[in-house]
Amino acid sequence: MAMEKNQDSKVIMGRYKLGRLLGRGTFAKVYKAHNISTGEVVAIKVFDKEAVRRSGTVDQVRREVDVMRRLHHPNVVRLHEVMATRSRIYFVMEYASGGELFARLAESTRFPEPVARRYFQQLITAVEFCHSRGVYHRDLKPENLLLDAHGNLKVSDFGLSALADGASRHRGDALLHTTCGTPAYVAPEVILKRGYDGAKADIWSCGVILFVLLAGRLPFHDTNLVLLYKRIARSDYQCPAWFSIDARKLLARLLDPNPNTRITITKLMARTWFQKDSCPLSDKPLDTSETVTASSPTINVRPSSMNAFDIISRSSVLDLAKMFDAEHKTSEARFSSKETTTVIVSKLGKIAEAGRFSFKLNKEKGRVELEGSQDGRKRALALEAEIFEVAPSVHVVEMRKTGGDSLEFQDFYKQELKPSLGDIVWAWQGGDSPPPTLTTAVPRSNTNS
Ligand code: ATP
Ligand code: MG
Repeated sequence: MAMEKNQDSKVIMGRYKLGRLLGRGTFAKVYKAHNISTGEVVAIKVFDKEAVRRSGTVDQVRREVDVMRRLHHPNVVRLHEVMATRSRIYFVMEYASGGELFARLAESTRFPEPVARRYFQQLITAVEFCHSRGVYHRDLKPENLLLDAHGNLKVSDFGLSALADGASRHRGDALLHTTCGTPAYVAPEVILKRGYDGAKADIWSCGVILFVLLAGRLPFHDTNLVLLYKRIARSDYQCPAWFSIDARKLLARLLDPNPNTRITITKLMARTWFQKDSCPLSDKPLDTSETVTASSPTINVRPSSMNAFDIISRSSVLDLAKMFDAEHKTSEARFSSKETTTVIVSKLGKIAEAGRFSFKLNKEKGRVELEGSQDGRKRALALEAEIFEVAPSVHVVEMRKTGGDSLEFQDFYKQELKPSLGDIVWAWQGGDSPPPTLTTAVPRSNTNS
């Protein structure tokens, strides 16, 4: 709060005067500003330097910034310069005066196919351009799709993923490939923590975005986080009746859960659907006047209604209890934690040691495996724990029995596991303790209607 006040009339490096706060993200705040000598209006993203330094990726950030500064494309937010003071890093960027694309979408419920295609063409042109220069976005989502004064799409934060990545690497370890922010746009291989190809992951996110533009709702939606992950992993979505056959076919190729068979950007750009009315770089204002205005209430597709915090908080209140049905109750347990993966893993290691379990860290699959030794008391009881990052510094740990007797698992869970995990648990999900209190309201979105 105090910082925002000071920033109000602050002049940075004697050159830019900070104006109002445009928005805030996970790692930074974005202000409108103007160059004192030229009057040029810019957007300045302010990072806390300490956070960047702690993330230990200063070199990587510097390298990426160098690359980004050379990314000149009409549909990519230009990075003008980077400045630093002792405590902050400032990214001076092109100002996208049209605001977020999804604000426009929220006004009109959904876009007719030609309008959606036009934005999608601009998105893909930008993505293709950056990929061809070896830069992957890895966080394509509505907040990063902005519009300029003429209604043209501007993708922001290209190449900035090093910052987010570094910070999560600092919090956790290699077990974790970050899935910050809303999981709704994230490719299955990213969620499943298999090492992933940035290009293919970006294409998946573009598929989710195309769906949202055409439908006015998310393709993958569930108030329950684990079920949402499952839907994404299976690419379980349903197209509304008004989708054209060609749009459906393309979506199936973009939202292919297997990154190896998912369509490439070259093939995507060669498709007739994509090439129709192709004028992606025109500076003619985009006419969205004929947007569909349905009589249904405004659908809130903004991730502010779908972020991971909401999902967890809603999950614990609404859904998780249901998930713990008779069958699963005996062989699964789930909790959320605010500790790093390192802390969680080492805690599980200690529990394994105390119970004379063998302990294996399967980094590739992002899970921990505990197996009872043959001569041990808990003969043949085996379990695995999978750790998901669902929001910055919030993890959900899912534990499953993979061998042995269910009653034995229950005993072990109640008498040893639960008490010894104690201090790293933020909340048991679906268990008997109350969910954490979060101030997020349950959104009124009806995205699955
Ligand atoms: P993340 O923390 O994952 O990056 P984010 O994209 O929402 O999430 P920021 O990139 O910090 O966070 O941006 C915050 C908000 O500021 C954006 O949602 C957008 O509305 C606004 N914004 C960002 N860049 C610009 C820009 N160049 N011009 C105008 N508004 C911008
Ligand atoms: Mg952003």
